[in-house]
Amino acid sequence: MPKPRPLIAGNWKMNGLSADGWALADEIVRQAGEGTGPELLVCPPFTLIGLIAEALANSPVGLGGQDCHGDDAGAHTGDISAPMLADLGCRYVIVGHSERRTDHGDSSARVRAKAAAAQRAGLAAIVCVGETWAEREAGRTAEIVGGQVAESIPPGSTAANLVVAYEPVWAIGSGRTATVEQIAEVHALIRRQLGGQVGPGSEAVRILYGGSVKPANAREILAIANVDGALVGGASLKSADFLAIAAASPPG
Ligand code: PEP
Repeated sequence: MPKPRPLIAGNWKMNGLSADGWALADEIVRQAGEGTGPELLVCPPFTLIGLIAEALANSPVGLGGQDCHGDDAGAHTGDISAPMLADLGCRYVIVGHSERRTDHGDSSARVRAKAAAAQRAGLAAIVCVGETWAEREAGRTAEIVGGQVAESIPPGSTAANLVVAYEPVWAIGSGRTATVEQIAEVHALIRRQLGGQVGPGSEAVRILYGGSVKPANAREILAIANVDGALVGGASLKSADFLAIAAASPPG
């Protein structure tokens, strides 16, 4: 089974006003070339999605949201639905990021509802999972990540509408990256579990690693078995770093 085409996704988090968001997207488009390498994706804050859609028009760089509601519409003040993201040209949405799980109390059941809403709207859900340092120290990594995968992924998911991102909470924004062995072990676990949950074709579901990925460590991380790309936070805010990470992907 050939490896799926890698996905390098930039999570801009709560960063960027119109001018710098436009400039960043424009630099990425101009340096990205023909789109023959890994698939590139940027996930700006909601306020910039319409603008960045224009900056990315006719380019191979895709657009995604950072979260969505589990309902398609309704009385949910301040929330954004998956059909709204699709309407603006998004192809992906991140759900279950640890910052949402922590700051907004997103349980795995809620993450599954969000992922299902994304899939109903024709988007691919990037479902994030990962253990805290305390959970790793307590030897609970497999239990925590396995549980999140079991509970956060909607039934009927396929390689076309699901991406899983393993992001150890302790490695996000900390400058501390998981070791090759730690990443390989958890990605293998997720791959095995997807075999049971997604069934035939599960080998094609991309499993991204996220947590302080930068140009200096990208090549080593992206070469690990069952690592099919990266979810990049801080380093995605500099076009040169984001594209250097993309360039470190093994040829497809
Ligand atoms: C993230 O928030 O998804 C992330 C991986 O952040 P960073 O790359 O900054 O650790």
